[in-house]
Amino acid sequence: MIPVTTFKDRRVAVFGLGGSGLATVEALLAGGAEVIAFDDSAAGRDKAAAAGIAVEDLRTVDWSTLAALVLAPGVPLTHPKPHWTVDLARAAGVEVIGDIELFCRERRTHHRASPFIAITGTNGKSTTTALISHLLKVGGRDVQMGGNIGTAILSLEPPKSGRVHVIECSSYQIDLAPGLDPSVGVHLNLTPDHIDRHGTFAHYAAVKERLIAGVQGGGTAVVGVDDELSAAIADRAEQAGTHVVRLSVKQPLADGIWLDGETLVVSAAGAEKFRLPLTGIGSLRGTHNAQNAAAAFAAAHAVGLAYEVIAVGMKRFPGLAHRMEQVGTRGQVLFVNDSKATNADAAERALASFGDVFWIAGGKPKAGGITPLKPFFPRVRKAYLIGEAAADFAATLGDDVPHEVAGTLDRAVAAAARDAAASGLDHPVVLLSPACASFDQFPNFEVRGDAFRHLVEALPAAG
Ligand code: ADP
Repeated sequence: MIPVTTFKDRRVAVFGLGGSGLATVEALLAGGAEVIAFDDSAAGRDKAAAAGIAVEDLRTVDWSTLAALVLAPGVPLTHPKPHWTVDLARAAGVEVIGDIELFCRERRTHHRASPFIAITGTNGKSTTTALISHLLKVGGRDVQMGGNIGTAILSLEPPKSGRVHVIECSSYQIDLAPGLDPSVGVHLNLTPDHIDRHGTFAHYAAVKERLIAGVQGGGTAVVGVDDELSAAIADRAEQAGTHVVRLSVKQPLADGIWLDGETLVVSAAGAEKFRLPLTGIGSLRGTHNAQNAAAAFAAAHAVGLAYEVIAVGMKRFPGLAHRMEQVGTRGQVLFVNDSKATNADAAERALASFGDVFWIAGGKPKAGGITPLKPFFPRVRKAYLIGEAAADFAATLGDDVPHEVAGTLDRAVAAAARDAAASGLDHPVVLLSPACASFDQFPNFEVRGDAFRHLVEALPAAG
């Protein structure tokens, strides 16, 4: 845990008592602050009270006595409208911040020189964060990974000399961290997302940019430049005097890291410095993962890892669960769990990565369904449809793609495994990439992916 000392002897309100909220309360208390905690849900309040935390209705406290409101990232700051605690804080002139801001202030006060890598982007954050952490561990570094992935930032071990913090930041968290100042900032890409929370794409982009604009003096900004807005972010950071490493999976770069076929190329002043083939690294399939790999390469190098060590680490990356995770083989058939693909955009990347797909799709549908995936239908040998979306998806597939309404995941896995094994193809893939949320049949995408893995493990060996 990281005791937050910057609010010692002051009163702080914490709203939102989920995992990261409770970690924030503990960290503030450990640093000597007085904390008032609250949540709109009675369950959250009860959990905090049971843990011995002072719970008080923030509607009735005297806000002039408070030094800050610390908000959980899930609580609306601006859109669709500010949460009522935000209105009260603003009316009283009390600052509204989040746990990443508390971490930054703590680091700035006590360990300014300790390496802090912050990662953001619309897609690929978790993969890149996990990959950076993995590479640094292979390089023998003391690594603490968390934020929007795994452990809440204030539950990690504190910054100290030689210890690297690798922190995934969502746009919500950046919005609550006005002093975000990583020594290495990583920005992968920008596509419209979460507009409900940020009002407009322009506002969402501006929030994301703060992670790069905040990079500490002497630090490094690693920026994917394959979309226009991100390219402009790189240009502005450079104009502001920050050292920028650009990444592209679409075009050669004279300076930066780019993708030549399936090989990452590191170049400087037009000269090639290093080549790293990604061919055969199952956990990093697809050009989207090449972007993540390029970003991780640049970040690991920025904190001193040698090219050769990075290359060794890259080949050993086990990948993240539920993101094109290879969960097993039966004979020639490869089983891939991409349960995290909860929309068509993500499923597109999975379909683009394989040739002969026995595709399990469906769940709670998103607007637009699978219509945008039509260009990839020729790769699908047969589709197995589950959940609420099944009838809709069947209509979209029509006569173009053989399909059956399996209804449930267990029936879909059994049918897809049988058909793939009987296909006689060289590399058939049974792919769970639902292009849907899971909530109609599962509590979340992780439980859906785990169920898929268990069903695959229970399949008989190929005979
Ligand atoms: P995030 O943490 O940003 O949600 P993840 O690393 O968990 O991203 O990946 C989620 C999904 O997004 C993956 O299954 C893949 O379909 C897609 N994806 C991953 N990396 C990228 C990228 N660099 N560009 C575009 N899409 C990506």
